[in-house]
Amino acid sequence: NLTERLSGVMKTLRGEARLTESNIQDALREVRMALLEADVALPVIKVFIEQIRQRAIGHEVLDSLSPGQALIGIVHQELIAIMGGEKNELNLNVTPPAVILMAGLQGAGKTTSSGKLAKWLMAQKKKKVMLVSCDIYRPAAIEQLELLARQTGAEFFPSQTDQRPAEICSAAMDYARKHHLDVVIVDTAGRLGIDEAMMQEISELERLLKPVETLFVVDAMQGQDAVNTAKAFADALPLTGVILTKLDGDARGGAALSVRHITGKPIKFAGIAEKLDGLEPFYPERMASRILGMGDVLGLIEDAQRASDQKEAERLMKKMKSGKGFDLNDFAQQFQQMKKMGGMNAMLEKMPHQLTQAAQNMNVDEKIINRSEGIINSMTPQERAKPELLKASRKRRIAAGSGVSVQEINRLLAQFEQTRKMMKMMNKGGMSKMMRAVKG
Ligand code: GDP
Ligand code: MG
Repeated sequence: NLTERLSGVMKTLRGEARLTESNIQDALREVRMALLEADVALPVIKVFIEQIRQRAIGHEVLDSLSPGQALIGIVHQELIAIMGGEKNELNLNVTPPAVILMAGLQGAGKTTSSGKLAKWLMAQKKKKVMLVSCDIYRPAAIEQLELLARQTGAEFFPSQTDQRPAEICSAAMDYARKHHLDVVIVDTAGRLGIDEAMMQEISELERLLKPVETLFVVDAMQGQDAVNTAKAFADALPLTGVILTKLDGDARGGAALSVRHITGKPIKFAGIAEKLDGLEPFYPERMASRILGMGDVLGLIEDAQRASDQKEAERLMKKMKSGKGFDLNDFAQQFQQMKKMGGMNAMLEKMPHQLTQAAQNMNVDEKIINRSEGIINSMTPQERAKPELLKASRKRRIAAGSGVSVQEINRLLAQFEQTRKMMKMMNKGGMSKMMRAVKG
């Protein structure tokens, strides 16, 4: 990945006081190579490299950062910018029912994404959602959507293969209005390639339905082809956004980098797994971190430097890196560090993509941190070093000592275990590589 490529260049930048035309040349060549390997479209690479060059040259390197770190920071920011900067929300501010029209080639993930989106809208936005299929061509396409509706609990509007798509849509809209539904997701037929008849059909549906969102669904694994298809659809249809599917199969992220720039349309959702909860809002920042393969490590380091002296930060990073021998003493010390760094959640947000789930599960706030510290303070040094000593009677003693229930102690211990696991994950996920890269 990009970080690996950059790590070699970092060494040559060591000792430079500022980034200059000549000392960043190698680095930029590596960035270019990494982007080519990731199957990013050429015009996008050109723009991207030029932006980085302009921002990097003459960039003062702060005392606390190496020039290598500074350059990674710039690359990171530019990655975010080229993917649209901020997260882009769905627009559902219309008189209901709001229509979401799904467009894209066959196999892109339209039907699956329709189901996932229904689930997401019901769970996250408390919407009453109906699914309807206009795919009268592909065998069992309607049944596929019906099954997804059943699995998610969304309403399903039945259609038949001998109906015309426009006819299905009109009937579905009548039903949705009558039953006061909030959102109607219209799944459509795709073709294997761009095809005039398909474009005409979906354009007709678009004019009929006046969707508030017309989402182009595209398979990230298609790389540059994904981008060319996106361009063709964007030219033919008033798209409002993109759903990039199968990101779980493409760690390189080439399509994610190109699509926004080429079509001008924001990526609104990312498909990250086959299962029904494998869809999430697209965060350019997280994707940028993923492409760099490092989470927002730079931010993490900066925060650590701000919060404490260099040594303490390094010690924390080292602990986090190893995950081995991590005990409740370290856990308690981490709480201290976290408080300085703006809380656990702020810190977890900056960790790599795959850890955000764990972060959400933990959802730790300051108050809980304080209570947790209280609990750990009531333990003996031996217990802190060896948490497996904590059987029922010891837990009762600690509970009495810190004024909490035994359940709360169990919760803390579960959290400790989860943190320890996360550290192992970070370790596997290339934390050590990353440290080398950043230190340069
Ligand atoms: P459609 O022809 O555009 O409706 O595509 P489908 O929704 O039928 O999806 C085609 C295949 O891609 C199915 O096997 C899906 O399970 C799979 N798929 C869709 N989205 C994702 C995703 O985000 N990740 C993974 N791994 N598979 C996906
Ligand atoms: Mg389909």
